[in-house]
Amino acid sequence: MFFSPWYHRCRARFIASKLENDRVQGEATIESLKRYRRLAFFLVPLHAALAWFFAHFTPPEFRPELAQWAHDLAYAQGLACVGVLVTVLAGHMFLERNTRATAGAITLQIFIAAAYLSFGAYITLLDLEYNAGAGLASFLLICVTFGVLALMRPAISVPVFSLSYVVFAVLLENAFINRSQLPSLRIVAFITPALALMASIMNWNQYARAVVLRRQLSKSNADLVAQQAELAFLADHDALTGLYNRREFMRLAHMELLRATRVPCHTAVIMVDLDFFKSVNDRYGHPGGDAVLKATAQCLSYSLRVTDTLARMGGEEFIVLLPDTGREGAMQVASKLRDAIRAMDVDFEGQPIQVTASFGVSTLAPTVRGTADAIYAAADRALYVAKQTGRDKVEYAAPEASELKHKA
Ligand code: GH3
Ligand code: MG
Ligand code: MG
Repeated sequence: MFFSPWYHRCRARFIASKLENDRVQGEATIESLKRYRRLAFFLVPLHAALAWFFAHFTPPEFRPELAQWAHDLAYAQGLACVGVLVTVLAGHMFLERNTRATAGAITLQIFIAAAYLSFGAYITLLDLEYNAGAGLASFLLICVTFGVLALMRPAISVPVFSLSYVVFAVLLENAFINRSQLPSLRIVAFITPALALMASIMNWNQYARAVVLRRQLSKSNADLVAQQAELAFLADHDALTGLYNRREFMRLAHMELLRATRVPCHTAVIMVDLDFFKSVNDRYGHPGGDAVLKATAQCLSYSLRVTDTLARMGGEEFIVLLPDTGREGAMQVASKLRDAIRAMDVDFEGQPIQVTASFGVSTLAPTVRGTADAIYAAADRALYVAKQTGRDKVEYAAPEASELKHKA
């Protein structure tokens, strides 16, 4: 078909804009009700003042029929005053209780617009009939105000402004006005709501685009903040277990050793290495191995004090820093950790996995000054001995004398 691509493009554009409008409608109704509420501070006193003015209006002697005009206007203005007050109060009560629009709120928004436009059409016709007042200006003013202030999607604004045109046109045809004025009045009666409708659609499109952009911006902002937080976490933590990484451990160990020389106190380090971990991977696959690593990290941290520092050095190796702990205490902690890992039953896809670990312990006395690297190297040597002499055991090694400086 010749029209086919054109038709499909229009249809797709229509559906996309409908979906966008659906997403924005709630926020637009809330904003419109807030705008009506602000406007009411001006409109209620204005209508009250106009009602009072027309109720006390004395027509000039040469136009006695204006008494009826003023009388009708006084009633219309009084009604508008009460109408604005009641509807805006209903909107205010809704806004106090809700942050999201409901079907009732949208109906109220449409009702306020339609009622006020009908009011504009009525008072304009009164002015025209009596050839008095501001003539078409009232209808024009009210139409344009609602076109600019009320945030109505086209699916709402088209029927609302069409209705206001119909009301105005019917009143115009039945009004007692000079027939010679009728053709130009008919044109203006059509152009006024049509212009207001165009303003309303342009206003809506701009608002909807701004809301969508704002939402996209705040979402990408939130994503960025989350990514930044994750990056900051990964800078000093291990992604799999959530424990400190090697770099952060060495930094914390360095700080602790500096503190220990001032206090002064012993410092201990325990190296932990899972036994035959390669065969766990071979048997249960990498996900099975990962599950064991996570469970081991949890088991170790549950068995330690909060003042101890636990880190994953890499692979299936963990390290613990025990502040203010000597050789005997560190050996006891390592034995406790060994028992805890031995008793651990990792559930991986319904299969229980059991592992053991070897431990290398080293300590620094308060009388010596050693580096984090020195105590780590000594614990690693002890771990090597534990591996060589049967695994699932705890061994001790002191740092080499060459790596230490005795305090003056
Ligand atoms: P040993 O008792 O001598 O320590 O033997 P082992 O098998 O535990 O030690 P080896 O160094 O031979 O193997 C370590 C294995 O740990 C090899 C590697 O694939 C595995 N590994 C290292 N990092 C990870 C990880 O993040 N996830 C998993 N699932 N496996 C890992
Ligand atoms: Mg191992
Ligand atoms: Mg290893």
